[in-house]
Amino acid sequence: MKIVVLKFGGTSVGSINRIKKVARIISQYVKTKKKVIVVSSAMSGVTNELINKTKKICNNFSPSEYDVLLSSGEQISCALISGSLNHIGIKSRSWLSWQVPIFTEGTYKKSRITNIFKSKISKYLRSGGVPVITGFQGINLENRLTTLERGGSDSSAIMIAKYFRAEKCIIYTDVEGVYTTDPKAVKKAKKIKKISYEEMLEMSSLGTKVMQPASIQDARLNRIDVDVKSSFVDRPGTLITKKKSVSKDKIITGISFTKNDSKITLIGVVDKPGVAASIFEPLSKNSINVDMVVQNISSDGKETDLTFTIKNDDIIKTEKLLNKNKLIKFKSLLVTKNVSKVSIIGVGMITTPGVTYRMFKALAKNKINIQVISTSEIKISVLINKKLIKKAISALHKEFNLEK
Ligand code: ASP
Ligand code: MG
Repeated sequence: MKIVVLKFGGTSVGSINRIKKVARIISQYVKTKKKVIVVSSAMSGVTNELINKTKKICNNFSPSEYDVLLSSGEQISCALISGSLNHIGIKSRSWLSWQVPIFTEGTYKKSRITNIFKSKISKYLRSGGVPVITGFQGINLENRLTTLERGGSDSSAIMIAKYFRAEKCIIYTDVEGVYTTDPKAVKKAKKIKKISYEEMLEMSSLGTKVMQPASIQDARLNRIDVDVKSSFVDRPGTLITKKKSVSKDKIITGISFTKNDSKITLIGVVDKPGVAASIFEPLSKNSINVDMVVQNISSDGKETDLTFTIKNDDIIKTEKLLNKNKLIKFKSLLVTKNVSKVSIIGVGMITTPGVTYRMFKALAKNKINIQVISTSEIKISVLINKKLIKKAISALHKEFNLEK
C-alpha cells in the first residue's frame, strides 16, 4: 500500500473557499491510486481565539480543560474537509485523535506523540476511504485529551507518516517552500529545492517560520522525506531530506535572523571559579533561555565582563534574578534591546575553510559592527544592531552567491 500523508496548515483551511480548494488538491492525489491520509490544523485564527477565551477567565486556566478546548479547532476543520470530499464524490470521514487512537505522553499543552494505533485507519484505507485526522491532539493514559505544542499539527503529520510508513509527507502551507532568507527582507531570496534536516532545524529554530522545529527533529530521527509547498499555487516546493541527498554546490544554504533578542552585559564581575555557573543557574531554573555568551577578561585578571543574549520577554525576570543573586558581585548591568542575531547556515561549511572570514569581511565592508559571535558545525551567528538586519542579510546573501 503506497501511502502519502498530506498536511494542511491553518491558512490553507482558513475559509470555506480554501477548504473547497483543499478538497480539490486531495482529489488529485486520490486519482493517482495512492492511498491518502489527510492531517489538518485548525482554521487560521481559531486556536488563538480559543486561548483568548481562557484568558478572559483567568491566567492559570486548567491545563486539561485548555487542551479539551483547543483541540476543538481541529475537529471543525477536519469535519469540513471530509464533508467537502464527500460532496465531490470521494469517500472520506474525519477521525479525532481518540478515535484512532493517537497516544501522547508528557504534560498538557505540550504532549508528545508516543504511539499511533494503525488498525482502524488501515482498514478504512483498504476500503478506499480518505481518513482526515485531526492534527495537534492526542489522548494520554488517563484517556484525557491532550494537545502538542503550538504548531504541533506538523508533528502529528510526521508521526502519522512514520507509523504508516508513508513514502512522503507533504506539508501544505501559505508559502511556496523554504527560502534562502526572508523574501520580505531580501527581494532576491530564492526558493531552496532541497535542504537537509540539520540545516532546516537550524533555520527554523533561528527564525524561519515554515515548520515547527520539533517536527523537523521527528522527521530527521525517522528519516521521513518532507515536501513543503503552497496550497495557493501549484509549484514545486522544498524537499527536506537526508544530508547525502542534498547537493553541495553551495557553501551556505540559507540565512536567518531573529527580531526579539536582548543583550545583557554584566560589567566588573569578580572573577573566580564557578562564577559563570552561579550567574546562569538561577536563569536556567527559571526557564530563561540564554543563547549567545561571551566573557572578557580584564587587564588585571581580577574582574571580567560577561555578555549574553536572551529573549526580550525575559528581560525583567532576568534583571531581577541577577540583582538578587548573592553569589555574584558586579559593578553594573547593561541591557541592550535593539539587537538581532543573524546566522548563516550550511552543511557546506564543514568542508570549506574561510567561511567565517568571508562573513566578517562582508559585514565589515558594510560598516556593520559585530557584538557577539557563536558557531556550530553548520552555522555561524553574529549579534548586530537590529537596524542593520536588512543590510547585513543582503550583503551575506550576495557574498555567498545565494541569488544565483
Ligand atoms: N492549531 C494549532 C496551533 O495553532 C496547531 C497547528 O496549527 O499546527 O498551534
Ligand atoms: Mg501551523
